[in-house]
Amino acid sequence: MRYVSTRGLAPTLSFSEVVFAGLAEDGGLYVPEDYPVMSLQEWHRLRGKPYAEVAFAIMRPFMHQAFDDATLRGMIERAYSGFSQPDNITPLIQVGPEDWILELFHGPTLAFKDYAMQMLAQIFEGLLAQQHRPLTIVGATSGDTGSAALHACREIQGAQVFILHPHGRVSEVQRKQMTTIIAPHIRNIALQGTFDDCQAMVKQLFQDSEARKNWGLTAVNSINWARILPQVVYYAYAALALGAPERKVSFTVPTGNFGNMFACFVAQKMGLPLGRCVVASNRNNILTRFFQTGVMHARAVEASVSPSMDIQVSSNFERMLFEIQSRSATIVKNQMDSFKKTGEFSVDSGALAALREHYDAFDATDAQTADMILIMEQKTGYLCDPHTAVGCAAVRRWRKLGGAGVMVALACAHPSKFDAVVQGATGKPVVVPERLKQTLLAPEKVNVLANDFGVVRDFIAASRR
Ligand SMILES: *Cc1c(COP(=O)(O)O)cnc(C)c1O
Repeated sequence: MRYVSTRGLAPTLSFSEVVFAGLAEDGGLYVPEDYPVMSLQEWHRLRGKPYAEVAFAIMRPFMHQAFDDATLRGMIERAYSGFSQPDNITPLIQVGPEDWILELFHGPTLAFKDYAMQMLAQIFEGLLAQQHRPLTIVGATSGDTGSAALHACREIQGAQVFILHPHGRVSEVQRKQMTTIIAPHIRNIALQGTFDDCQAMVKQLFQDSEARKNWGLTAVNSINWARILPQVVYYAYAALALGAPERKVSFTVPTGNFGNMFACFVAQKMGLPLGRCVVASNRNNILTRFFQTGVMHARAVEASVSPSMDIQVSSNFERMLFEIQSRSATIVKNQMDSFKKTGEFSVDSGALAALREHYDAFDATDAQTADMILIMEQKTGYLCDPHTAVGCAAVRRWRKLGGAGVMVALACAHPSKFDAVVQGATGKPVVVPERLKQTLLAPEKVNVLANDFGVVRDFIAASRR
């Protein structure tokens, strides 16, 4: 399988080249040239199979040129062996007659990013075993990506890792989960800016041809295709458990960079019939407004109680735009150029209608999020973290407007990661898992840097020597 850029001006690449490239040279994102489609019988056959088996069936067609079957099975095995309940790593909890929560926080850093990041680290290791090359891993994080990446990458020999987070804008738990990982090849950068500044910094590094070539620069953000792919697995696994492919299961996804939501779309492209996809946002509701109007208009990022979604530029939405506009790289490139220049772009009514066939979108304010944490706790006994609560609030709105059938809301983080907000909403302390308690007591190491490309570039250039 080959991969093409959403902006059409970068070379088509193989899977391993895409993993190392991260972002395409033309600023676009890589997507498969076409999607492997599984028949209804093939989906049916996967029902009731172990997670590792479903993961193998879904990921194999995308990377079989890079890894033989035995190697891929071994990588999947190792990626998920460190999860807290290895035989049930994505528990489904019923919270209403047709309402379910899919818990995706049973990995080492208690957020859903572990599910993809652990696999990505296995992929890096597998590829480095095949080819000698420098590897400089960079990532921007609004909180959870960074810790998941650092945990996953701390064992990779020969890699240099740089993770940027917005200084003072991540929760204390999130910060400590990053800054307590201390190793010579790992550097935490606290950037004096927002998450979007961090992400822009990473994107600009990729435009730097020296960094790309001589450092072996790659990204662990969901701009990297290998971050999206492992996420396709849990949509399929959960949908099959709840009656797919016969029954159409819907999903609600607390959304920031749209990576998780795009993985759901990939499951559909692979032939799995699903119901509705509900995009849930916090007060940074650029996507809700977009689905109403067809105009993507960025405003300043505002800090919220669900910080992992404090984003105005949803990078992965570019992949969706490409798919929904007949894979026209020209249209996407014009839209992205306009967005960069003016902070705005729009889609035509046909594209908007096509998007609305897949998606509903709702947002929740901080007050509504806190209310939802309390409502869920009182009505169902389920304790949500604020991101999960944003999703549950969206489900509620969706049901009120007539949404029917089985709905799965993704729980993307453990409530203890955001204990202050959760305790504020329920008035009760959150039980902290043992693993996290130890992290909270460990010493920290971090480099605070100015929001200036030259400063960040020089820091990375000097440290990676
Ligand atoms: C990363 C994250 C999100 C946003 O996911 P995207 O794939 O960026 O849309 C939502 N909730 C939590 C808890 C996260 O860590």
